[in-house]
Amino acid sequence: MHKTKFIFITGGVLSSLGKGLAAASIGSLMESRGLRISLQKLDPYINIDPGTMNPFQHGEVYVTDDGAETDLDLGHYERFTQAKISKKSNCTSGSIYHSVIEKERRGEYLGNTVQVIPHITDEIKSRISKAAKDVDLLIVEIGGTVGDIESLPFLEAIRQFRNDAGKENVIYIHVTLVPYLPTSDEVKTKPTQHSVKELLGIGIQPDILLCRTQKSISVEIKKKIAHFCNVEPDAVIADPDVETIYELPLRFHEEGLDDKIVKLLNIWTRQPVLEEWERLAEKIKKPSSHVRIAIVGKYVNLKESYKSLHEALVHGGIGNEAHVELVYLDSEQIAQDKGEILLENSDGILVPGGFGHRGIPGKIKAIRYARENKIPFFGICLGMQMAVVEFARHLVGLNQAHTIEVEKNCKDPVIFLMREWFDYKNNIMVSRKEDDALGGTMRLGAYPCLLEDGTLAMKAYKRREILERHRHRYEFNNQYRELLAKHGMIFSGLSPDKNLVEIIEIPDHPWFLGCQFHPEFRSKPMSPHPLFQDFIAAALKNKKKT
Ligand code: GLN
Repeated sequence: MHKTKFIFITGGVLSSLGKGLAAASIGSLMESRGLRISLQKLDPYINIDPGTMNPFQHGEVYVTDDGAETDLDLGHYERFTQAKISKKSNCTSGSIYHSVIEKERRGEYLGNTVQVIPHITDEIKSRISKAAKDVDLLIVEIGGTVGDIESLPFLEAIRQFRNDAGKENVIYIHVTLVPYLPTSDEVKTKPTQHSVKELLGIGIQPDILLCRTQKSISVEIKKKIAHFCNVEPDAVIADPDVETIYELPLRFHEEGLDDKIVKLLNIWTRQPVLEEWERLAEKIKKPSSHVRIAIVGKYVNLKESYKSLHEALVHGGIGNEAHVELVYLDSEQIAQDKGEILLENSDGILVPGGFGHRGIPGKIKAIRYARENKIPFFGICLGMQMAVVEFARHLVGLNQAHTIEVEKNCKDPVIFLMREWFDYKNNIMVSRKEDDALGGTMRLGAYPCLLEDGTLAMKAYKRREILERHRHRYEFNNQYRELLAKHGMIFSGLSPDKNLVEIIEIPDHPWFLGCQFHPEFRSKPMSPHPLFQDFIAAALKNKKKT
């Protein structure tokens, strides 16, 4: 009988070692050997999902086709592999406890004391098994760092999992740090030894160590780590700093990682086909031109908050063989007197998604600057909503136009809360009230959109029907559609019943487009998203003009 194999990835020493990228790269290598794979992330925090967390703390909230608000590592999984990523692909401690407590309330535990072991651990194991349906290999990343109190139930569950699934079907990969000390000019293995000891204390002996390192790791050091950590020397793999993250699968392959994995898991596969990855890395490293894009946002100090956006712009660059330099600008600074000077050297301006009122005037100012100076402009979600506000105020003369998110009782609510709309994803009418709770009232996940002929959108996608992911509460107010159209606004993408405005454009401009959805979630390095590709192309043209 066909049996699914499992790789569990843990992290040691400190956070931000790039476990997610490592998991995604392993996924891509295994896929390029012909395996059907999937990936899952287990997160030890208590929130049910990261949707309600501050992006400063947690980074971007990534959205899947089926509308799950997830950890940003799932974005890496989708960008690096073909795996079907869904609600099942991300579980938090909160969601695990929630299910167990619900079951307890329903009386499903029949008078038992409900405990971490076995009830929580059983729930974790059942989530892992559910994510493993129809695949040859499931890669499971455990969030956090070994030694954290929060991750203990997850580590206990994956320890048990090997006994349940059979020793030959499960391996553990531990991502650790091998720091370089410039003063003594040597790399240090002690943090790795300690972190492996910590894992051993929980009953997990890692099979492979991925050693994050600035410098390469010599054979002697590998032998030393192997000796102290009880693994084979060829299971000590360097996980080096790379020029581009898309190089990582290649570096891992050179280190023999995929060979070691298939040997340990006793999987018979072909050699990986990596030409596409090689071509990609080559393209990124040798661009033929350069373009500068300004991102006008709120979370500019934390690039993690715009992870997918950052990557999608890089992909747009790959599609044009250009290096995309991203300049993150704080919209509050742009709002200041003469703040637009900050935008002067940009070849293209992008206003990304966001929530709340902070930084709104600066965003509107940046959009006006892009429109009037004919600089390619891309507005995403809140960015599109603000483009509508800017247009209504400065071209239509509705001085008090706004979104009700910022000004509840504004005179001209061009962006508002739609009371009723047809939900194509779930095939139901949705009705909402202003005072609905914040959770659960967003339009989330992939929705269809139909494009109009002769528009920038149609030129980019080259197809009539598209599917894009949403994450927002407010919508374009149809009461203003005719008026704005009269002044030149083009509604180039609409929901199939024409009720929801999904894409707007303005004419007499090299490239000015706003979309209500988040195209960045569907961009991949091998297939750059058409809107990002065309936006970068327009920015390149704009640059050539100057
Ligand atoms: N805050 C806006 C809304 O809820 C836009 C959200 C976003 O940009 N993702 O509609």
